[in-house]
Amino acid sequence: MSNLYIIATPIGNLEDITLRALRVLKEADLILCEDTRQTKKLLAKYEINSPTMSYHQHSKLNKINKIVDLLECGKNLALVSDAGTPGISDPGNKLIEYLVENKIDVKIIPIPGPSAVISALCISGFPTDNFIFLGFVPHKKGRQTFFENLAKEKRTAAFYESPHRIIKTLESMKKYIPEKEIAVCRELTKIYETTYRGKPDEVAKKIAPDQVKGEFVVVVN
Ligand code: SAM
Repeated sequence: MSNLYIIATPIGNLEDITLRALRVLKEADLILCEDTRQTKKLLAKYEINSPTMSYHQHSKLNKINKIVDLLECGKNLALVSDAGTPGISDPGNKLIEYLVENKIDVKIIPIPGPSAVISALCISGFPTDNFIFLGFVPHKKGRQTFFENLAKEKRTAAFYESPHRIIKTLESMKKYIPEKEIAVCRELTKIYETTYRGKPDEVAKKIAPDQVKGEFVVVVN
């Protein structure tokens, strides 16, 4: 039986990769990448020369069929996303779902490591024995319901937001959850890593216009 390794890669700092992940990447017959250019930066740093192939959210069924053929021929494949743990709010889970649903004879093996949501939760200072992860905030449809549910939520909640929408999302939080405490974690593990804490209006005041660049995880309590 062949193996498909689901490998967590750094969310910024290229040192955040496990020894096991490096060994498996080195030994893989093929590395499936969300974006091969992105992954090649990591592979170059660790002098890994395994072949790569793109697999992303727009990949069609014939790409999945090609992957299944390789697995059925006994090839050992590794799956990585641009950052963090594949399948967590990124394309990997579609492939895994397909393999499981179609009972493809492959062992799916996690190689654990960084994930932005876990990094944010562990520094939030909020209870983490029972939390909910909400993925990305909906842009239009479902946006109001998203914040209404957040207002009712008793557990610590975490979600992802893009730099283009973080200000709009802070405005929504000021409206729907003005009294909740939040931690907005920006650029985790990177040079400009910053965590802004407080109520939504306090955090909104702290984020200067030149700080809306980068990647964000929002944690709400
Ligand atoms: N699979 C990834 C993981 O395990 O973290 C998440 C992929 S998702 C497509 C990308 C989102 O994760 C970004 O838009 C941002 O919200 C969050 N993210 C990724 N890296 C981050 C970082 N270094 N700091 C803060 N948020 C980050």
